[in-house]
Formats: sequence, C-alpha cells, structure tokens
Amino acid sequence: MHETGLVRDLVQKVAHAAQEARAESVSDVHVWMGVLAPISEAHFREHFEEEARGTPVAGAVLHVESSDDIQNENAQHVMLKRFCLRLPDKKRHT
Ligand SMILES: [Zn+2]
Repeated sequence: MHETGLVRDLVQKVAHAAQEARAESVSDVHVWMGVLAPISEAHFREHFEEEARGTPVAGAVLHVESSDDIQNENAQHVMLKRFCLRLPDKKRHT
C-alpha cells in the first residue's frame, strides 16, 4: 500500500470527528510514528498537507512524535494520538 492511503485515512478520521463536533476547524493534530513506519516524517507532512486541503483539517499544526524503539509493538505504524478542535462556542472576544 502506498502511504497515501495511510495519511488519507488519518486525515479523514480527524475531519469526520471535526464535522461531527461541528468544529470550525482543527488546530492541532498529534501523531506517533514508529521507527519502522513505511513513510518518513517529512514525507508524511507533505501528504498530510495535501490530504487536509479542502477539509476542516487544513491549516492544522501537525505534531509528530517519532519513536526509535524497534521493540515497540506499533513500530511499523503511524498512529493518531489526539487532535484539538476549534469549536464555535469556545470563541472569546475580549
Ligand atoms: Zn508518497
């Protein structure tokens, strides 16, 4: 599988959650990347921006935690850790 699918799934998961929550946008996305993941961090970022375009995820800050633990059971995977949504009722005008 080309890594495009991997990134697309992740972005769609966040976009879907944002839509469900009626968020205006996504401010941050945190992912964990295993040392044997089939994609480099730089390449992941490229695909992430591409896939996020036109979705509520566009413009979100991507935080990548790179693991170097080859023994980790998820060493081959990229995992979505958490994300932060911008909700309309959280707006503050001061
Ligand atoms: Zn690629």
